[in-house]
Amino acid sequence: MTEKFDAIIVGAGPGGSAAAYSLAKMGFNALIVERGKYPGAKNVMGGRMYAHALNRFMPGFWKEAPIERMVTREKLTFLCNEASVSLDFQDGEFREPPNSFTILRANFDQWFANKAVEAGATLVPNIRVDDLLWREKKVAGIIAGGDKIEANVVIAADGGVSLMAEKAGLKKFEVKQFALGMKEIIELPEKTIEDRFNLAHEEGAAQLFIGQCTKEIPGGGFIYTNKTSLSVGIVVYIDRLIEKKIDSHEIIREFNENPVVSKLIEGGKILEYSAHVIPETSRSRLFTDGMLVVGDAGGLVVNSGITLRGMDMAIASGAAAAEAVKNAMGKNDFSKECLSYYEDLLRKDFVLKDIATFNKAPEFLQNDRLYTLYPEIACRLFHKLWAVDGAKKRAFDELLEGTKGNRTNMILDLLKGLRAL
Ligand SMILES: Cc1cc2nc3c(=O)[nH]c(=O)nc-3n(C[C@H](O)[C@H](O)[C@H](O)COP(=O)(O)OP(=O)(O)OC[C@H]3O[C@@H](n4cnc5c(N)ncnc54)[C@H](O)[C@@H]3O)c2cc1C
Repeated sequence: MTEKFDAIIVGAGPGGSAAAYSLAKMGFNALIVERGKYPGAKNVMGGRMYAHALNRFMPGFWKEAPIERMVTREKLTFLCNEASVSLDFQDGEFREPPNSFTILRANFDQWFANKAVEAGATLVPNIRVDDLLWREKKVAGIIAGGDKIEANVVIAADGGVSLMAEKAGLKKFEVKQFALGMKEIIELPEKTIEDRFNLAHEEGAAQLFIGQCTKEIPGGGFIYTNKTSLSVGIVVYIDRLIEKKIDSHEIIREFNENPVVSKLIEGGKILEYSAHVIPETSRSRLFTDGMLVVGDAGGLVVNSGITLRGMDMAIASGAAAAEAVKNAMGKNDFSKECLSYYEDLLRKDFVLKDIATFNKAPEFLQNDRLYTLYPEIACRLFHKLWAVDGAKKRAFDELLEGTKGNRTNMILDLLKGLRAL
């Protein structure tokens, strides 16, 4: 290719496609280069997308997008070996406007990238971008498959372990900044899913698990219901996994074998297994001369323990990057000073506001007691409340006895949790 593009986007995940779609809609000449055979081929995700970010520039997108189910039921389960305690929340208000949808990335990413192509962007799949092209110490394009392709701005949307952000000197990687997400897609009949999760037709559930399932490593398990499959997985901090010398496959196998989980997935057929890193605290600088960084590549992920949000962050940051390119094109200025407008947009929007709000969450979520002691206390307490053994005590006395020796830590953790989450 000898043509110079207004923008080259590296990666056709949600961040890259949002940037390309928005740029193409504004009439700019945008190229997306994706290393997968097709967008989504290499992408893994727990399977829930919060709708608000995409709905802003594609209102009612779910009417045509390949969504699986609208999530109307949220469940949080504390797991012990023999017992579990669940909080089950249903809300009709999650239907209008829809709060979140379960999706399968292979389908969703292809659809979204095709929307960018329909709007006028050029998509080149199956090509890995190897390097950045530099002119006078400024990013001036990409090098892919031996070709040099020029652009006014390169948008790095290449995910959590962003080669582009690293090559531009915007990011240094440390293992402790990342979590590992492992996921299986387990096929089950539609009716079985609706019966097991108590769902009406096309409604979906998201169930999170804390406790025994991560073998004392900070993290959690999840199940999201798709139309005819479940997305089942575990997210754990990588450094703790290494420290404890635990095989990641063992964790997911034990999770599937837990009596609570095994009933939900029983009879299902594993269609797919995948694993991917999540940049929990791996922030990157977001711009330099001739380059912007969006989505996971910039570490724009929020994990509040109850919600894991990377997709809406990627989509909103991709759209903001397109705005920043438009501003730079108007001024014919692609310097970092001019492109810093991107970060101003993210600060005014929910992206950097939510990251700031939850900036204490990753540290709080590293507390081992959340995954060991507290699920145990909850299970023991509820056991005592329901067991009838001739030695009944009042609920308050059971609570006092069950928390004996741990109350100071519990109060401190509660206060920290309230501040962090
Ligand atoms: C197990 C798991 C569960 C998750 N659950 C949720 C959830 O429920 N909800 C949620 O919102 N988020 C979730 N996330 C996070 C979410 O997946 C990410 O935040 C989101 O995908 C980020 O989008 P992105 O476009 O920035 O990057 P990605 O989706 O990672 O896309 C990057 C793209 O760049 C391509 N690429 C990479 N390098 C190159 C290269 N050199 N050349 C060309 N192409 C390249 C990749 O193939 C990929 O298509 C989860 C993540 C994991 C791992």
